[in-house]
Amino acid sequence: MRRILIVEDEKNIAEIERDYLELDGFEVIIENNGATGMQRALKEEFDLVILDIMLPDMDGFEICRALRKEKDVPILMVTAKVASIDKVRGLGIGADDYIVKPFDPAELVARVKAHIARYERIKGNTQEKGVDIEYRDLVIKPLSRRVFFKKEEVFLTAKEFDLLYFLASNPNVVFRKETIFDKVWGVDSFGDAGTVVVHLTHIRDKIPMDYIETVRGVGYRFSMQPEQ
Ligand code: CA
Repeated sequence: MRRILIVEDEKNIAEIERDYLELDGFEVIIENNGATGMQRALKEEFDLVILDIMLPDMDGFEICRALRKEKDVPILMVTAKVASIDKVRGLGIGADDYIVKPFDPAELVARVKAHIARYERIKGNTQEKGVDIEYRDLVIKPLSRRVFFKKEEVFLTAKEFDLLYFLASNPNVVFRKETIFDKVWGVDSFGDAGTVVVHLTHIRDKIPMDYIETVRGVGYRFSMQPEQ
């Protein structure tokens, strides 16, 4: 059974979410405050986390960031303020989607299912062709989702890894940033191609040699030349 964690201080909202998800066969756990919600999300395995932004003890952004450092579980942010959306989008905190209160619970269930399906698809694909990519001083290990540069581990976030792996597994192909966004984040994800640029900048900061080439006016490619 797939497990969902709901971190939400408004008990009636959490219960409505739970009821709808349970009807669809999910096992649902509710945490009513940020700190215990975060601990639980870090310690246990969930298929998706529904995270309210306005919590009494800590905000959902903080929890999302902390969670992203450790896990690539899909995160759906819930907010009562439309203004928060720009923040979710702009911060690049790694949420997969957001939904604004009040929302139709059926819509929430549909999003939850879509994100879980997408996540499982990506994981499944990775495992099928889980061959390490080695190029010059860079090693990408898709099964363990680890990256090494000159034998030193480089710590990428889940999305940075997905982005690097996507480009490196299609070497020398130029992708428009919109295409990269659709492939890595999914067509139904919120956000836009600007997110791709932000993540690329982070990857370039973390890996000293630039493997990803900017093709001006077109897009990006992982450039792989035959080794001399
Ligand atoms: Ca709240």
